[in-house]
Amino acid sequence: MTDTRRLWSEAVNRLEPYVPGEQPKAQKLIKLNTNENAFPPSPAVHRALTAAEVDRLRLYPDPNSQKLVNTLADYYCLTPDQVFVGNGSDEVLAHAFYAFFQQAQPLLFPDVSYSFYPVYCNLYDIRFQKVPLREDFSLVVDDYLQPNGGIIFPNPNAPTGMAIPLADIRRLLIANRDSVVLIDEAYVDFGAESAVSLINEFDNLLVVQTTSKSRSLAGLRLGYALGSAGLIEALGRVKNSFNSYPVDHLAEVAAVAAFNDDDYFQNACTQVIATRAYTVAELKALGFDLLPSQANFVFAKPQGQSAKAVFDALRERSIIVRYFDKPRIGDYLRISIGAQSDMEALIAALKDIAPH
Ligand SMILES: *Cc1c(COP(=O)(O)O)cnc(C)c1O
Repeated sequence: MTDTRRLWSEAVNRLEPYVPGEQPKAQKLIKLNTNENAFPPSPAVHRALTAAEVDRLRLYPDPNSQKLVNTLADYYCLTPDQVFVGNGSDEVLAHAFYAFFQQAQPLLFPDVSYSFYPVYCNLYDIRFQKVPLREDFSLVVDDYLQPNGGIIFPNPNAPTGMAIPLADIRRLLIANRDSVVLIDEAYVDFGAESAVSLINEFDNLLVVQTTSKSRSLAGLRLGYALGSAGLIEALGRVKNSFNSYPVDHLAEVAAVAAFNDDDYFQNACTQVIATRAYTVAELKALGFDLLPSQANFVFAKPQGQSAKAVFDALRERSIIVRYFDKPRIGDYLRISIGAQSDMEALIAALKDIAPH
């Protein structure tokens, strides 16, 4: 292959792209590495994707995804001008970084957090400063009360799974009114308190959510931001300078159907939470140290063997979890909560692997 790097834009050489968890091709793997939902999407999604909707792919979709925006506004008791939708929450986050965080002061986020944040900073030349989580991996909002050009963290945090109460987020917002506070709620439906209820009180609060985890639609690529009309307008300006049609017609139809079937959603979340409780109890019995999780994964530290050794041994048994070779978290495994039977197979494999 010839070296075509001479043809690249200068900036491309400096990019440090995000590396997603692997999506192995092999069948019969137990896949507990990217926090997908073990349940299928709501049957209402199947029913909504009719031949007539497929035929509409001939046309461009509604650039504003107005039906979906209205559905989300109703669902969260907001007005449509407080809702922005995009091609996965990763895209929504990218637009938010561009729209709000290019500031003289640094963006603040936890040292242990979603590893896409520094990637966007690198892409858009955004100054950032990592704020260390406390020794026990807790996030203390007071640590963010310093000059900043924005604040972002997931709640619950990833990959720790630990959540902070709404009262802490309110306290942060009261003390920090002049930069955007973005709460990434990718996992909020598995037991944490959402900050959506604070949106009408704080014009600098942006809440980002996704259908990828709690609504079993990771393959659909549909994320959204909720916030004041002014923040949503800024996101629309960025979006319409980049791609007018980020949400395809079938994605809009499917997402509307998913939000209209709340019973299915509530039931799936309840079951994931129950399977999480089972997994936590079994892992503790095997001597693992666990952080308290409000997410659809657990962050667990094996005893007597390195996390990497356990990761490799599970892999040999066709069970894929996530291991991060990074400061502070190299002793842990992030294990997604799969179906109850997946977690039973995991526990059996760990018993097999354990030093006797
Ligand atoms: C999974 C995840 C996302 C991305 O979700 P998509 O909507 O699938 O792009 C964003 N933030 C965090 C913290 C996540 O774990």
